[in-house]
Amino acid sequence: MEPPAVCQTCRRPATQNRLDYRRGDAIVHNPNLLLCDVCERFACADCLRVYAIVSDYDFVCHECAREFDRARLHGGH
Ligand SMILES: [Zn+2]
Ligand SMILES: [Zn+2]
Repeated sequence: MEPPAVCQTCRRPATQNRLDYRRGDAIVHNPNLLLCDVCERFACADCLRVYAIVSDYDFVCHECAREFDRARLHGGH
């Protein structure tokens, strides 16, 4: 699947400085828009700063991050 030219969340074009994001202590650079590991939507790093990053995933989009938050809150053992 080819990455689109714009973020599927905010619709901004994929310019260089939108594609760096923090993962733990490291800055990760993606050459293209970031691909959600769950639903495979593409989005820019700007959206990652707004929406939650779930550890162990390179990128989880805002919709999937919301699902993870719900699971964390209502989950448990
Ligand atoms: Zn997703
Ligand atoms: Zn975006």
